[in-house]
Amino acid sequence: MIRHCACGNPIRLRDSICKKCRIEYGSDPSGWPEWVTYLVQQEQREVDRKRLHDFDLPFIDEQMLPNTKIRPTENFDKEPDELVWERQ
Ligand SMILES: [Zn+2]
Repeated sequence: MIRHCACGNPIRLRDSICKKCRIEYGSDPSGWPEWVTYLVQQEQREVDRKRLHDFDLPFIDEQMLPNTKIRPTENFDKEPDELVWERQ
């Protein structure tokens, strides 16, 4: 996954703008032109969305497994205390 600077240059994920823009606009976001801040925010939103999507997949798989393997009655026999807490 590649992140892009407001100017279009590819940058590292943890960076918000490229080296060239950092020199030109400074490293302090409050000093950036409005369009730079806007594009960086758009890119950040896209990065967050993709990152969330990446983390979602294994998380869903883990949640699905107990549901398909263990029926509610079996679950109740094994761990009644935990089940009661979950229902409250
Ligand atoms: Zn740039």
